[in-house]
Formats: sequence, C-alpha cells, structure tokens
Amino acid sequence: MRINDKIKLTRESIQALFHLLSNNDYRLIGPTVRDSAIVYDELREVTDLPVGWTDEQNPGVYRLKKRQDEALFGYTVGPHSWKKFLHLPLLRLWKAKRRKNGWEILDDREPPAKLAFIGVRACELHAIAIQDKIFLEGRYIDPVYRSQRENIFIVAVNCGQAGGTCFCADMNAGPQAASGFDLALTEVIEPERHYFIAEIGSARGAEVLSQLPHEMAQENEKKIAENIVANTAAQMGRRLTTSGIKDLLYRNTEHPRWDEVASRCLNCANCTMVCPTCFCTTVEDVTDLTGEQAERWRKWDSCFTMDFSYIHGGSVRPSAKARYRQWLTHKLASWIDQFDASGCVGCGRCITWCPVGIDITEEVRVIRDSEVATNAEALKIEN
Ligand code: SF4
Ligand code: SF4
Repeated sequence: MRINDKIKLTRESIQALFHLLSNNDYRLIGPTVRDSAIVYDELREVTDLPVGWTDEQNPGVYRLKKRQDEALFGYTVGPHSWKKFLHLPLLRLWKAKRRKNGWEILDDREPPAKLAFIGVRACELHAIAIQDKIFLEGRYIDPVYRSQRENIFIVAVNCGQAGGTCFCADMNAGPQAASGFDLALTEVIEPERHYFIAEIGSARGAEVLSQLPHEMAQENEKKIAENIVANTAAQMGRRLTTSGIKDLLYRNTEHPRWDEVASRCLNCANCTMVCPTCFCTTVEDVTDLTGEQAERWRKWDSCFTMDFSYIHGGSVRPSAKARYRQWLTHKLASWIDQFDASGCVGCGRCITWCPVGIDITEEVRVIRDSEVATNAEALKIEN
C-alpha cells in the first residue's frame, strides 16, 4: 500500500481501526453526543460516535436531529475543535518550591499521551496547520504544543454535507482533506451498502490500514466518493468573497458598520473560544497560603476581554466596536501580514455559537457592498 492509494473499508473495519489504535497505546478522541451537542471526547467503540445523528446550524442556532440512516459522520462540526488537545485551555507552565537557598523550579511534567484524532474535517486540518505555524515555526517554539503534536495520529473525514454556517470552500480549506492526515475517510451510504473510501496520507497510515480488513476501491466507488465531496462543496451555507479582503478591511476601519455590530455584540468571547485558530492566552501566578510553592498558569484569553488589551493605565480597545473590529480584521486581514495566510478556515463556529447570531461573512459583505455602491454613485456623478 502506498500514499494516495484508495481502499474500501466497512463499518467493521472502522471498529477494527479503533481496537488497533487502542492496542497501540493511542487514546482515541473523536465526536460523540453529549448535552445535545456533538463534542470531541474519549471514544472506545464505533457506537460512541454520533451514529444516525446530524446537526442543523444557522447564526445563533445549533440543534441535533436524527437522520434516516446509520451514518457515523453525518454531521458537520460542533462547538469543540482539536485545539483544546494541542493548545491546552489551561496549562501549568512551571512550578517552584522554596528551598533554603532560594527557589527551585521543578520539572514534573508528564510525557504527552499518544492521541488518535478521529473524524478531523478538512477545515480543521487547515486550522491545525495554522496553529503549527504559530507554535512551531516562529522564533519561539512552544515545547508543550510540540511534544503533543508529535504524538498524534489523524483520521480525517471528508464532509458529506455542509452546514448552514460553513464556508470552507471560499477559504480554500475544504471540504476535501488534502494533506496533514494519516488516513482520510469518505463515508458512502447507499440503500443497500454502507462503506468508506479511505485515502492513505502517510507511511504510518499505510501500515495501520494494511492490518485492517479491507479491499482495493473500484473505480466507480472512488468516483462516488469524489462526487459526495464535490456536492458538499456546492452546498456551502455561507459565502465569503475573499478577493482583496485585506485591503478592503484596512480601508474601512472607520466604517459605520462597526458601530452597528457593536450595538448587537455582547462581548461574550464565544466566537474566539470556539474558533479553531484563535490562540490568545494570558498568564497568572499563584502561590499556596504558606508561600512555599508558586506556580505559573497559562489560560486561553480573548481579544473581547477588557483585561487582554490593558497596557499601563488602560485598555487600548476600550469599546465593543474596537474589540469586534480588532477580531474580524485580525482574522481576515492582519493575520495575512503576520502569518502569510488567513486566520479563518470557514468552519462557521463563530456564527453558530454567537448568542446573537453575528455573522462574520455578513459583516464583510455589508462593508464590501457599501464600497461597490459608493463607487457606482461616484461613476454616475462623473458621467
Ligand atoms: S473566524 Fe469563525 S469561521 Fe473562521 S475559523 Fe474562526 S470560528 Fe471558524
Ligand atoms: S460576536 Fe457574538 S460571540 Fe463574539 S463576542 Fe460578540 S456576541 Fe459574543
């Protein structure tokens, strides 16, 4: 078996994959239903997956519904992303103990667990690649991220349907998993057959697959799988025109739309917490009551909190308008200057999980349309 080979698997082969990875000391993490949502948590059996469930998503709306079949991956993405396993929400950076001659820094960090991520979508692979760039390719390498990242086996899943808030196709981030996986599955459900076309993405993936019950995929089966992904690309619930987006946003820092969106934004920070690429953190020092032990913790923070942009004597983003504008323009414009890529993969989570349904694609559209209207007006006057 070689990289890019396409292999046909059954539901039983997926169960065998779970057992094989567990027997090789991987902790399986993947989608499962909890509290009426599909979240990422520990899996043991195929039946832990959201079998027969799908999700309905719209701005500020998320609802699970039963499907008419037994699909294992028949939903889009939920509130969790993989960043919570790689870029931990709460991390102790160091611990120190008071000794006779001063403080001793203790190195008692556990080695990272081997994790198998099951059901990673194309947009999420792109989000992981973006975080790799931030934590592994800059001047300062994050050693905790690196050690966990080196211990991941990725089983991607090509999306068989797009959600109401998805726009990965416009961000060139999906719905087809193109790279960054060990195995990528496309689920095919026909009236009489339920199978998976698996693409091999790495030597490790080939080795694992060779130990599972499998057969080579027929040409017509490969075509069916390709069509599923192509149909998904054509069904995106949202659209975002990205041409010239960086300059568009830089030209419009004083656009009246920022005031309008600020009047609706609750500054709850949900959009940044669910976003798979947001990476802001803050640090906090704590001591025990005796003063014998001190610890420094790092935790996720957000550009929507006042404290995050507090610089000697005040916040540089004191208004809701300034905070929302900072978030959106960082995602879609200044991120490009900073990391040479967009900070958005079009997963739609910030739209679905915004309690008041603020929609990043809609905000950009309004700003773009107003420029088009202004330009058309100017042309009319000229003529
Ligand atoms: S900005 Fe919104 S749509 Fe884009 S990656 Fe973040 S959560 Fe997903
Ligand atoms: S845009 Fe929505 S999710 Fe983000 S801070 Fe404002 S209200 Fe919260």
